[in-house]
Amino acid sequence: MSTIQPLFEQIKKLTAPKIVITTHHKPDADALGSSLGLYNFFKNAGIASQVISPTDYGDFLNWMAGEATIINFEENKIKCEKLVSEANFVFCLDFNALSRINDLGAMVAKSTAKKVLIDHHLNPERFYDYEHWSSNSSSTCELLFDVIKLWDYSLLNKDIAQCLYAGMMTDTGSFRFPSTSSHTHLVAAELLKFDIEHHSIHEHISDSFTEDSVRFVGYVISQKLVIIPEYHIAYMTVSQEELMKYNVATGDTEGLVNYGLEIRGIKLAALFIDRKHLVKMSFRSKGNFPANEFAAKYFNGGGHFHAAGGQSELSLEETVDLFLTALPDWAPLLT
Ligand code: 5GP
Ligand code: MN
Repeated sequence: MSTIQPLFEQIKKLTAPKIVITTHHKPDADALGSSLGLYNFFKNAGIASQVISPTDYGDFLNWMAGEATIINFEENKIKCEKLVSEANFVFCLDFNALSRINDLGAMVAKSTAKKVLIDHHLNPERFYDYEHWSSNSSSTCELLFDVIKLWDYSLLNKDIAQCLYAGMMTDTGSFRFPSTSSHTHLVAAELLKFDIEHHSIHEHISDSFTEDSVRFVGYVISQKLVIIPEYHIAYMTVSQEELMKYNVATGDTEGLVNYGLEIRGIKLAALFIDRKHLVKMSFRSKGNFPANEFAAKYFNGGGHFHAAGGQSELSLEETVDLFLTALPDWAPLLT
């Protein structure tokens, strides 16, 4: 669905449009890449915009052009409230439920700004006025490329291309997940024409762990991985003490869940992390198991068919118990 085409002309007609761009809590490369891709597009058009992140994010993303201008909502709530309430447009990228942006969600809901959704997650909440949405797209960055094509392709530059490539690369698991289409590769090919440094983008994202975080991954895999062969499941739990012991920073647990799915025969991998006030979990699946439906049913979550997440206010042990108790009902989709 797209109703976004006329929007750029409308924005250009305004003398000094006030534009806020935001994305989901703990943004990943697709979230930040699409946000900064759009920021750099507007910048190239001579239009100012402000990216607000609901939280902090991993420092493996700080090479993106414009990253230094991002405001962290948690550190600047009053400033962000003013920006959102005075905005003409709020762009909501890579999420489709206001709960995904924490307390910023209520401010966006209240704002008189026109809200614009660019996203690839299932079942959007209808809080927006304009949309460019498709759950078939690999990433929000891939969708943003199409938006830029609709709006003004001559404004695409290397800075934007690097941001978009990073998001597409990450959300497709380096162009290997089922969401990778011929269109994904065509867009990547177009981006490469801008002389992007794709090798260094891969390095920034994949080879930027600290010694502590690599040892942490080793510890979790060797000591905390549980396999349930009859259900084709692998899961890992991480306690708050373990997070502290290994100085785990934002971004360090990204990708950890995928190790479970690398084991032959495993159809569902789960990771449970005991954050301070809640247990956060990630699910990755193969085949017919709908990770998003499962996350929504038991853990107030959602996401994509094969990659989803959720949370629980129970203890870590109780959360894992709930997970294990739910499994028999889903066994037909796991075998
Ligand atoms: P991750 O496991 O990397 O945190 O998230 C995987 C996917 O699930 C992402 O597309 C993310 O947007 C979605 N997701 C993660 N946690 C939640 C959640 O609590 N609620 C919803 N609706 N989606 C989530
Ligand atoms: Mn995404």
